[in-house]
Amino acid sequence: MNGFTEAPLTNIMATGLDRLRGDDPELYDVLVRELDRQSTVLSLVASSSVVDPSVLASLASVAVNVTAEGYPGRRYHAGCEVVDDIEQLAIDRARRTFGARYANVQSHSATNANYTVLSALLRPGDPVLGMELEHGGHLTHGSPAAYAGQYFRVVGYGLTDEGLIDYDQVHRLATGHRPRVIICGATAYPRSIDFARFRQIADEVGAYLLADISHTAGLVATGLHPSPIDHAHITTTCTHKQLFGPRGGLILSGRDHDAPAPRGRGTLADFLQRAVFPFSQGAPALNTIAAKARALDMVTTAEFRAVAERIVEIGGVLAETLAGLGYRLVSGGTDNHIVLVDLSPKGMTGFVAEQALEECGIVVNKNRVPRDPTPAFVTGGIRIGTNSAARRGLGREDARYCAELIDQVLRSVEVHGERGYRVPPSVRMSVRARVADLCARRPVPGYPAAELASSGR
Ligand SMILES: *Cc1c(COP(=O)(O)O)cnc(C)c1O
Repeated sequence: MNGFTEAPLTNIMATGLDRLRGDDPELYDVLVRELDRQSTVLSLVASSSVVDPSVLASLASVAVNVTAEGYPGRRYHAGCEVVDDIEQLAIDRARRTFGARYANVQSHSATNANYTVLSALLRPGDPVLGMELEHGGHLTHGSPAAYAGQYFRVVGYGLTDEGLIDYDQVHRLATGHRPRVIICGATAYPRSIDFARFRQIADEVGAYLLADISHTAGLVATGLHPSPIDHAHITTTCTHKQLFGPRGGLILSGRDHDAPAPRGRGTLADFLQRAVFPFSQGAPALNTIAAKARALDMVTTAEFRAVAERIVEIGGVLAETLAGLGYRLVSGGTDNHIVLVDLSPKGMTGFVAEQALEECGIVVNKNRVPRDPTPAFVTGGIRIGTNSAARRGLGREDARYCAELIDQVLRSVEVHGERGYRVPPSVRMSVRARVADLCARRPVPGYPAAELASSGR
């Protein structure tokens, strides 16, 4: 049908980079600096991952040029027959990856996916049960600082003193408040979630169960974390954390895809289709959907499975080593990629720890911990995650080494109140060099390796 090989794609990318370099050196320079930063510091940000170059190439594809309101085979624009194939590929792969019966791949983010679902299922003022932010829930699960918390009547559940989800409290609050939607899934919870238990509670009070697996989607896809697909009525996830894909969201459904939708609006699947478009979104980003398709295909490979296993393995080693060094961990350990450290016994805030570690080339994020008295910008702890480190191929020894470097920095930092601190320059220089060496020895596959620190970095 045509004479094109992949060469024109390569040519466009090369032309694009040439023009960027030539016509906009200011932007080009920042992009190069960011690549340089990523290759010399160790990202232990739990919500981060790093995409394969083939995902980058898909994002930079000409699919971006097509406007395609609607769905494959049913568009409100002409010229969509090829991008229809892209979207269908992403839908098929999303369903296959998660064993889902229904998938919508158009959400621009998990926030967007959650609000699409909540705003379609609920009327303003309806009761919702979600996990408290400071106990590990997400802003979109009902925090008063965000949309859901202001438009719905949200009741929050949290953790027991042991740091585990308090299912008895969930049950008590559900029977007391009769929520129309119960949200499970977390943004800072180091343990596995019992989706079956949540569904039992939802059924008892006649609520829809929404599971947001943004943080653990890679473990769910590989069977290393229980799957909510057939427990929750609806499952959402972002594609840029543990799926190692582009910034975006997915809405999925399993056995309940043909359950009745609210207000007699057909099946849940039909309802969700309309909830995305036209109810809450316009045209989809087909280049991003191409990148989702690419990332989802990689999730089913043996190579991805090895990364997922490594994510959990080095998470366990990090947790064990830090606990052995005297750090208090929320829930005492981890089942997944997250290690949540409560720094209050150390007399240090999350703000100070985050900044001090970043100075030394280790990137984590400050995070509130249960019953945290400090504000969200200060926090009493840090959240450490292993997705990106696992992608670099870090093993058990490396993870122990990272925990020791973290300890070395935190032990040597002089604390001056909630936000003041000083890292001794000798510690900063030596840890930075060790981290850069580790990154150079273990580059992200497909990315350029940094030079060894001894070359003067
Ligand atoms: C990160 C996260 C989100 C938001 O994801 P975006 O795609 O960045 O909007 C939603 N829910 C949970 C549980 C998350 O961890």
